[in-house]
Amino acid sequence: MNRRNVLTTLSFFALVAMSLFVYFKSLNSLQANQPKNSKPHKQPVQQTPKKITKSSEEWRKQLTPEQYRILRQAGTERPNGEVYREFKKQGAGTYLCAGCDTELFSSKEKFDSRCGWPSFYDPSKAKNVKTSVDYLLGYPRVEVKCAVCDGHLGHVFKGEGFDTPTDKRYCINGTVLKFVPAKKSPNPMDSLPTDRQE
Ligand SMILES: [Zn+2]
Repeated sequence: MNRRNVLTTLSFFALVAMSLFVYFKSLNSLQANQPKNSKPHKQPVQQTPKKITKSSEEWRKQLTPEQYRILRQAGTERPNGEVYREFKKQGAGTYLCAGCDTELFSSKEKFDSRCGWPSFYDPSKAKNVKTSVDYLLGYPRVEVKCAVCDGHLGHVFKGEGFDTPTDKRYCINGTVLKFVPAKKSPNPMDSLPTDRQE
């Protein structure tokens, strides 16, 4: 191999090395320019609540016979009973499912429909309440169920002319609602030092 050939070979390798260097450098900068978290941005979606399933025996052990009859057998409590009288007296708070403690309604949507059953114009947590049509009385009614434990709660009627934001009446069996009174916010005046002069 003469000197000229050696030089040509050397410069060829130098050229290859240079091009490889430039290639990898540009590849690196490309990767660096990509956002670290390139996962597609997720829209906030209403999560479907996790379902609870239990056997009839398990439900029977957990619930009172009346709660079992309503929640698991689509029963209806007697109107204007003790439960309804209690309901009318209750103040601010939330109403949970007696079967699974899921929040369903709140005192904010409660209204007096004078029908003898607890009434709400909307659920407080829409995703926790589901509806379907039943024909138990021979005509279609919209049944209201707990979306978590699938327990029967009552029915919903629309367009009855009530002066509420939805004109819906969620007619719910109070027996299957667990009332949780709202915590009273501490009065800021109570913590002020009393500067009384005797
Ligand atoms: Zn439930």
